[in-house]
Amino acid sequence: QLDSNRALLRSCAPRASPRPVKNSPPSSRRSNRPPRPPRRDPMLSGDQGLPDGIGMARLAWSRLPTADGAAPLPEGPAASAPAQDELFVGAVESLDYEVIENYAYREEQAQRSKFWVPYYIMLKWFFALLIGVGTGLAAIFINLAVENFSGWKFTLTFAIIQHSYFVGFLVYILLNLALVFSSVYIVTQFAPAAAGSGIPEIKGYLNGVDTHGILLFRTLVGKIFGSIGSVGGGLALGKEGPLVHTGACIASLLGQGGSAKYHLNSRWVQIFESDRDRRDLVTCGCAAGVAAAFRAPVGGVLFALEEVTSWWRSHLMWRVFFTSAVVAVVVRSAMNWCDSGKCGHFGAGGFIIWDISGGQEDYSYQELLPVAIIGVIGGLLGALFNQLTLYITKWRRTYLHKKGKRVQIFEACLISLITSTVSFVLPLLRKCSPCPELETNSGIQCPHPPGTDGNFVNFYCSKDNEYNDLATIFFNSQDDAIRNLFSAKTFHEYSAQSLITFLVMFYSLAVVTFGTAVPAGQFVPGIMIGSTYGRLVGMSVVKFYKKLNVDEGTYALLGAASFLGGSMRMTVSLCVIMVEITNNLQLLPLIMLVLLISKAVGDFFNEGLYEEQARLKGIPLLDSRPKQVMRNMNAKDACKNQKVVCLPRVSRVVDIVSVLQSNKHNGFPIVERGQNGESLVIGLILRSHLLVLLQSKVDFQNTPFPCGPGILNRHNFSDFVKPASSKGKSIDDIHLTDEELGLYLDLAPFLNPSPYIVPEDMSLAKVYNLFRQLGLRHIFVVPRPSRVVGLITRKDLLLEEDGNTATTELQSTSS
Ligand code: ATP
Repeated sequence: QLDSNRALLRSCAPRASPRPVKNSPPSSRRSNRPPRPPRRDPMLSGDQGLPDGIGMARLAWSRLPTADGAAPLPEGPAASAPAQDELFVGAVESLDYEVIENYAYREEQAQRSKFWVPYYIMLKWFFALLIGVGTGLAAIFINLAVENFSGWKFTLTFAIIQHSYFVGFLVYILLNLALVFSSVYIVTQFAPAAAGSGIPEIKGYLNGVDTHGILLFRTLVGKIFGSIGSVGGGLALGKEGPLVHTGACIASLLGQGGSAKYHLNSRWVQIFESDRDRRDLVTCGCAAGVAAAFRAPVGGVLFALEEVTSWWRSHLMWRVFFTSAVVAVVVRSAMNWCDSGKCGHFGAGGFIIWDISGGQEDYSYQELLPVAIIGVIGGLLGALFNQLTLYITKWRRTYLHKKGKRVQIFEACLISLITSTVSFVLPLLRKCSPCPELETNSGIQCPHPPGTDGNFVNFYCSKDNEYNDLATIFFNSQDDAIRNLFSAKTFHEYSAQSLITFLVMFYSLAVVTFGTAVPAGQFVPGIMIGSTYGRLVGMSVVKFYKKLNVDEGTYALLGAASFLGGSMRMTVSLCVIMVEITNNLQLLPLIMLVLLISKAVGDFFNEGLYEEQARLKGIPLLDSRPKQVMRNMNAKDACKNQKVVCLPRVSRVVDIVSVLQSNKHNGFPIVERGQNGESLVIGLILRSHLLVLLQSKVDFQNTPFPCGPGILNRHNFSDFVKPASSKGKSIDDIHLTDEELGLYLDLAPFLNPSPYIVPEDMSLAKVYNLFRQLGLRHIFVVPRPSRVVGLITRKDLLLEEDGNTATTELQSTSS
């Protein structure tokens, strides 16, 4: 059939002077004029030209009517968000995970040699290696910079406060302000998509939604340098979420061969052209980010599997695992190199790894109750955190961020000032405590020399053998503060008063900081909040169950797990990450218990943090399961009252332009008139493909008959590929003369001839599963077919190498 199509196409007369595909200049000055109103073609809308009953299903929750047919808004707290629908329409676009088997694709497939597949697989592994190395290096750079900036900041401040507290305070807040300003400036002026953790957007990308700007080169740069400023500036946020985004950006940029905009690209590495391949690379990047952030390679793989991806295959699992392993090696090598003091303040601090092997090694059954309480607190505080951040983000978006970038910069600077003041002033209000008796060979110092990592910080204490417990966690870099909260040797070094003060203040700061225009992760604030109340519960257990050999640091760890479980609702991946960062396998059952309880309690109140934020950002995520109401609806209900916009096979250029200008749809059914005058749907064409054709102009023809000029060698499949997360072409960028508008375009060679089709009375739940599981973008809804031409079963799909089915063989074996 392909050959006969080719023959037909070759036989047609080409347009007089085809232009080159690439870099075609705007044809004339007049071309900016809007095209003449088109002569209305009866096929341009479904009510007139499309076969009866056809519809377009695109599953976005905002469009789905509720059971009572009321307002089509999402469930849960986000349901009250105004104008959700408007937010995501236009700002986000679905990805084409389905392979568009158009003419160019088939040509390319036919030309591939038998070595193509092994070569392609090898390349995928090579790219997995590159992603691992790239993300590992980015993580080292961020950690190195953050640790050094924090180290210098604390050393300088400590040196100055020996003489004057006020001057020390001023220097401290100014240094923090400068770092935070650099971060918010980079984000607002240069890379707006780098704000936040980026995980909701990446989750959306792997669910099939492309948010503009999230995987661009400048977003990567903004994320790296922005994280250094925001984390180094002491805000209540972490660098782990941004590292996931960084890994995804590196993967996507590698996959598309670099950044064309900044001339940092090469055609040699432009191998992965389909969204589907890029999706796999981005999955590797996410896992690499977590593996680098926590030095938890298995945790990284599970994070990608549990939290971010919507499609998973065993082949992908191996590659993701490989990438995470590469990250672990790269990071370890850097740590070993830096251990000898070559990297300034970066060394023992930096990467999160809290070895609490000296802590509690076993647990008794009486401890299950306090552990369950930690789980419940985690669920409640986590759900409250999600709810508060949701309200504040909505408020911010409505009243604050609309006012412009200056307001965003001012807001971040103000929060920096508040955070610095609170973390400096509150420890001053605490009394110093005498150092505990330490064994000489314990390796612990009290008080700790200023500016270096360690427990028992001496802050304003007049005596040499005193320390300030609140300063130990508040006036310290976050990684050191967590290490101190997790400290395994039980010296009872924190008073309940200090822990409660820290909990209340840091929780409030974390809520307020969330949503500012800086790169911000929620893992570290979550761990700090959770470990504080965990330690408080541990202290109570020590007090009331004196006989038990309980370690407060271990309870701090359980608290951290519970808060993350209650807020992010992860279980397996979080459990493995916690085990990997603490090196304590004995506590696995307790960690599992707190995670299960905290997730269950949190789920009772609201959705996980990333899902809520994704909805708020207008990312139409499709959950893994359809809503209950969809079982009672059918496909036709989802596209009720829809007037399908479609195009005839040979369309006038002016008609195509008019259709593209009149709506924002990204896919159009193509209809052809049969010999008896009946119309036949022959496929689906994407807006982006139409734009490529309109811009290149080489396929324009004079005749209105289906006989486009031979398109052989005119278009490669790569001509139709759009860079990830870029805005892509718009119809306004296309310039056509009056003469060109009057020509015709035969769309048959460029359409997807086999889009997915469902009968109109298929249950919507079934359509949902099909759509979600296959990663589709459009489904045609059609009336019940009148006849069946064949029936395929599993046995018809067991093809031999020569293309024959294995059915006969199977039948003979079974008989
Ligand atoms: P996506 O936004 O996922 O890339 P799209 O842009 O093709 O897909 P939208 O325009 O966002 O789809 O879809 C909005 C609504 O319009 C949906 O209800 C969808 O069913 C409907 N729709 C999409 N394409 C067409 C079309 N060609 N004709 C009529 N309605 C359409």
